[in-house]
Amino acid sequence: MSLIDPYQRRIDYLRISITDRCNLNCFYCRPLGGKPGLPHELILSYEEILRIVRVAVGLGVRKARVTGGEPLLRKGMVDFIARLSRSGIEDLGLTTNGILLKGFARPLREAGLNRVNISLDSLDPRNFQRITGSDGLGEVLAGIEKAREAGFQKIKINTVLIKETNEDEILDFAELAFSREIEVRFIEYMPYLNGKEWQRDLYLQAEEVKRVINSRFPLEPVEKQEKPGVAEMYRMKGGRGTIGFITSISRHFCERCNRIRLTADGKLRNCLFSDEEIDLRGPMRDGVSDPELAEIIRGSVQKKPERRPDFFCSFKKCTRTMNLIGG
Ligand code: SAM
Repeated sequence: MSLIDPYQRRIDYLRISITDRCNLNCFYCRPLGGKPGLPHELILSYEEILRIVRVAVGLGVRKARVTGGEPLLRKGMVDFIARLSRSGIEDLGLTTNGILLKGFARPLREAGLNRVNISLDSLDPRNFQRITGSDGLGEVLAGIEKAREAGFQKIKINTVLIKETNEDEILDFAELAFSREIEVRFIEYMPYLNGKEWQRDLYLQAEEVKRVINSRFPLEPVEKQEKPGVAEMYRMKGGRGTIGFITSISRHFCERCNRIRLTADGKLRNCLFSDEEIDLRGPMRDGVSDPELAEIIRGSVQKKPERRPDFFCSFKKCTRTMNLIGG
């Protein structure tokens, strides 16, 4: 069984947000913007999520990534990961800000988690504090070490580069990927900000970042990627790790998109950049059968847009922030 959308893309990847809450308050994301999180009854229970995953696996989904909010904040998540890893998902990942990772890395590995991506926008404690509102950089770095010790093979660090914020740290991140077996992926700043206008003048194009890195560490494209993902991958001559660029804004990769997303409150989204969503929580709580649930998921995939909007021409504010959608 497979989920094929109208543009012949095979949808086999589900991203699952398990909470809207976060323990950081990054100025460009502002998870809750000072507001309390959603009431618990509106958030899917683990049972409900696992049911959706089982149905999605039956439709051909093979890869999942747990995200949030900050997923490590949700109680019982190690046990949830263990159950998820036995649900037919073959490749299970987690995206975290790393603040709590130190204590979770080993239990998560033992629970069957295959990959961990850590979001980290600054290697400088003061800048980290300025961006996130937290002085937890040391915790994140310790979490990265523990993840390596726990045996996660390929650790990826995701860095959103923003003008006047962390562009002066590009070479520090490149140096990290040069000296260690780490993949640093630079993500273009995307138009999400709690209902406010995207600060377009803070957007930094991946090509500019490449130029900066090339001036110090000549970049060589990674020729054949085993499983081409969303990042354009490079090696640095003589370096141990790799550098990736996620060019969501300057060069979209919609033709390769294989994803759907489940929000913490049980909506299915077929595109990160569209506000269209289909409710699964209501029908599930009203007693739909698994085949009916499968039909709702199929219906969402059939409506997947061919490509994301062109931000610079027709900019539209997104009504949800990343913490709800699951970045
Ligand atoms: N708390 C987890 C974490 O920090 O990895 C998971 C959720 S967080 C919303 C996922 C990712 O989305 C983070 O790497 C964050 O930097 C990114 N993100 C949030 N808002 C963004 C924006 N406007 N543009 C690009 N990336 C953004």
